[in-house]
Amino acid sequence: MKKLILASNNENKIIEIKDILSPLNVQVISLKEAEINVEVEEDGKTFMENAYKKAKEIFDIVSDKDYMVLADDSGLAVDALGGAPGVYSARFSGEHGNTKKNNEKLLRLMENIKDRRAKFICAMVLIVDEKNTIRVQGEVEGAILEEERGKDGFGYDPLFYVPQYNMTFGEMDSKAKNSISHRKKALVDLEEELRKYLQGE
Ligand code: IMP
Repeated sequence: MKKLILASNNENKIIEIKDILSPLNVQVISLKEAEINVEVEEDGKTFMENAYKKAKEIFDIVSDKDYMVLADDSGLAVDALGGAPGVYSARFSGEHGNTKKNNEKLLRLMENIKDRRAKFICAMVLIVDEKNTIRVQGEVEGAILEEERGKDGFGYDPLFYVPQYNMTFGEMDSKAKNSISHRKKALVDLEEELRKYLQGE
């Protein structure tokens, strides 16, 4: 069986990734389960650069090269703000992970802006072995509301309105959100690419 280390300890991500990759007979373990304790600095200019950096740094320290390493990086890109907050999504207000301040800053910058289009982006990099790397990117389009709606989800979810559902991510339950999210789209593509690779092996 192929083994995969997920460069994250986020329970939700691990469950989602295990679920989507389950038909492929791949054993997915977290960083914690692999007993790896590293902080990779996310200083890339794009989500893809950050995801690759994380995957590569971890791949390089894992001695058992039977392990593949998967890393992701995600965030919000607002058209009228030239793609901001982008790779700074988690620390937009200057304070890492302060959702309240991040959302307030976003609303402040969007005051009087008519074009509210935005997307969530998720880049995923899977280092399969020394020679093979799979890169995928999932996106979901929406718009930034003028005030928060809904209490579910995390981060910018209550401000991110998805027209097809007439709801914000913050109003959707996790099952609905996870079925259309940027992460889900990236994972579906990843599953397809990995399946092709494993069949050709
Ligand atoms: P990470 O890729 O998990 O490190 O996420 C980076 C940041 O992007 C998070 O802290 C959030 O601010 C934002 N973000 C990424 N995905 C989502 C999402 O699905 N909903 C809301 N915010 C998100």
